[in-house]
Amino acid sequence: MAFELPKLNYAHDALEPHLDAKTMEIHHGKHHAGYTSKLNAAVEGTDLEGESIEEILQNLDLSNGAVRNNGGGFYNHRLFWEVMSPDGGGSPSGDLAAAIDEHFGSFEKFKDAFSNAAATQFGSGWAWLCVHKDGSLEVCSTPNQDNPLMPNVSCGGTPILGLDVWEHAYYLNYQNRRPDYIEAFFNVIDWNKVGELYKSNH
Ligand code: MN
Repeated sequence: MAFELPKLNYAHDALEPHLDAKTMEIHHGKHHAGYTSKLNAAVEGTDLEGESIEEILQNLDLSNGAVRNNGGGFYNHRLFWEVMSPDGGGSPSGDLAAAIDEHFGSFEKFKDAFSNAAATQFGSGWAWLCVHKDGSLEVCSTPNQDNPLMPNVSCGGTPILGLDVWEHAYYLNYQNRRPDYIEAFFNVIDWNKVGELYKSNH
C-alpha cells in the first residue's frame, strides 16, 4: 500500500497570522505531496515496499538518497502538521511539563534551547524535541530532511515536536526573518498532541 499525503486537521488559513494560508497551501499541497509521491516511486518494487515509514527510516541505508530525502520529507511534514493547532500555544502540562522541567530546568529554558537549535541550523533542516526510551528529552537539529529516527543521525530517540526551518516554510511571510517564524511557531504548538506523543513513545 502506497503512502498517502495526510489531510490537514485544519484549514489552510487556520494558523494565521502565525503561518499564512498561501504558505500552508503550497507547503502541504506541493512540497509534502512531492515528497510523498517521490517516496512511493523510490520504494516501489524494492524490499522496502509495504514497510511502515518508521521501519524504513530506522533501518535506512543513508546512501539511498531518494529514500533518505523523500522518506524523511514524508515523515517530518506529517509530524509537523500534527503538532500544530489553531488552539495551540501556551505551555505543556502533566507528564510532559514535568519532564521538560526535569531535563531543561524550565519551559523557558526548553524554549530557548529549541529556538536556538532552529535558528542555528545552517541552511535547510529541522529542529526537534525527542524522547528517548527512558523518558529523557533532548533537543537537536538535522540538515535537509534527515531526522533522529535515522541511524546515527543527530540525537536519536523519537521526535515528538519538529519545526521545519527550510525557507519554503516561512519565506513568503517572514522572508529572511527566521527568528520571527520560530517565535510564531510557539503560538500554534499543540501541547496536548506533543504530550500524547511523549507518553506513547517511551
Ligand atoms: Mn517543508
